[in-house]
Amino acid sequence: MQLYERGLIYRGHRVIHWCPRCLTSLSDEEAEHSEETGSLYHIAYPIVGGKKNSSVTVATTRPETMLGDVAVAVHPDDERYKELVGKSVRLPIASVEIPVLADEYVDPAFGTGVVKITPAHDPNDFEVGRRHRLAMPVIMSADGTMANAVDAGSRVPPELIGIDRFEARERIIRTLEKAKQLIRVESHQHAVRHCYRCDTVVEPRLSDQWFVKMQPLAKPALKAVRDGTIRILPERWEAVYINWLENIRDWNISRQLWWGHRIPVWYCDKCDSVIVSRTDVAACTKCGGEVRQDEDVLDTWFSSWLFPISTLGWPDKSSAALAAFYPTDDLITAPEILFFWVARMIMAGYAFMDAAPFHTVYLTGTVRDMNHVKMSKSLGNGIDPLDVVQAYGADALRYTVVAGMGMGADLMLDPKDLERSFAPGRNFATKLWNIGRFLLSNIGSQPVRSIDELRDDELTLPDRWILARLNTTIFECDSALGPARPEKGKWDGGSSGTSSPTGTSRRRRPALPAVTMLKSRVPCSPTPSTTRCVSCTPSCPSSPKLCGSVCPLP
Ligand SMILES: [Zn+2]
Ligand SMILES: [Zn+2]
Ligand SMILES: [Zn+2]
Repeated sequence: MQLYERGLIYRGHRVIHWCPRCLTSLSDEEAEHSEETGSLYHIAYPIVGGKKNSSVTVATTRPETMLGDVAVAVHPDDERYKELVGKSVRLPIASVEIPVLADEYVDPAFGTGVVKITPAHDPNDFEVGRRHRLAMPVIMSADGTMANAVDAGSRVPPELIGIDRFEARERIIRTLEKAKQLIRVESHQHAVRHCYRCDTVVEPRLSDQWFVKMQPLAKPALKAVRDGTIRILPERWEAVYINWLENIRDWNISRQLWWGHRIPVWYCDKCDSVIVSRTDVAACTKCGGEVRQDEDVLDTWFSSWLFPISTLGWPDKSSAALAAFYPTDDLITAPEILFFWVARMIMAGYAFMDAAPFHTVYLTGTVRDMNHVKMSKSLGNGIDPLDVVQAYGADALRYTVVAGMGMGADLMLDPKDLERSFAPGRNFATKLWNIGRFLLSNIGSQPVRSIDELRDDELTLPDRWILARLNTTIFECDSALGPARPEKGKWDGGSSGTSSPTGTSRRRRPALPAVTMLKSRVPCSPTPSTTRCVSCTPSCPSSPKLCGSVCPLP
């Protein structure tokens, strides 16, 4: 509502990505690109009133859409076709005359330099169609079968009506071949968009949807990353983020699905009023006539992008939670939702709170199987973590994932061979466990003194060597955490760079909590100088008495 009131939400009549299986429109991000080898068909369109057999050749990867052609276009400076502009050609099969026009959009180097213009089934052609005020016939049903759907007259011949678009492609090619209008077919590498949900090839389609104007929202989000207000780690993702925001297109937020927030818009068919309202509308506010609510729901990300503020009480801007916790600090997530979610949360943060929702975005890697395919429920190539915990222990699982995934690097695990993936983690945990057992069995019931209480002359040469190595390890450990390293001392409650007898186990605790807890069995040693426990950590809040021989973890 706030965005609508600011003029940033509008109803647009334009070509969007449509999934013929899910029967819904998709955003640019939901229509995923993949490079594919298809065919480029060169088709002859006869020139009306030209010499016998004179024609222009048009190249297309989707010949079935030719039934929706309303023009062919050439570049205005293309000398080859100067004569042709203003004349007409006859569209094969549909058998209608369409004009030849000149438009800057045409790339003279692509194919023959003549392109077909299909405004209802191609976003670029839609723009050309709008510039030249062309008709925009829709020649497919929502489910991807051929039909004279909207403004199409009888362009689709009876024998093709109800036929699936890909079958129609084959039939049209056969017909053109027979009529000697198929000049040639060449193999062609091009980007095809697929539905992110069901992988069906997306069909560009002209329809009415609600859009968000993104450029004004993107501006502060772009600035924040450029001036360092927000850091994205690994840093190479910053360029990707900036490139996306610089080229951002308006966001289609209508979805023709059953599940979701229903769009709060009512239409009056009597006086054509469009009523946008925070509360339900019973009758038209202008003429009192009957109204019907928009049947579509909002893109799920249109709710998700509010996550950092809606969870804290927004739109109540005086909420105590919002005051206490906004902005937050770090967002840890996967790179594949950088645009879907992260960038949009940043935009929403600026749009509704005038502040970024977090200062650091930490992008983890992705867990993949041995074929580099992302593990997912729908593919069934995942690993049930509980199986791993059963067989190898929780520490082995946690250590394997943490150790295998440097910042932004992917982790490969074999779902068919858990032994190969998790045995090294288990072996490492076992080693630590055994070291702990060994130490404990040698300590006996002797109280253990804190390192700080030991005078230098009490340390043997091996002691000093061990402590030096420990300090080096602590230093390397901290450096390896790199730019993502939390502020000094925040990592695990310990302080960086100071020697402590429990340094190594403490540093491993975030990754191996179960095994390193062994250390808590060290007999506690109350000292005269302090009333607090000094065995586990100088800041352990337990009194020595309470702590007893088994220290609680800090
Ligand atoms: Zn789909
Ligand atoms: Zn009305
Ligand atoms: Zn203690």
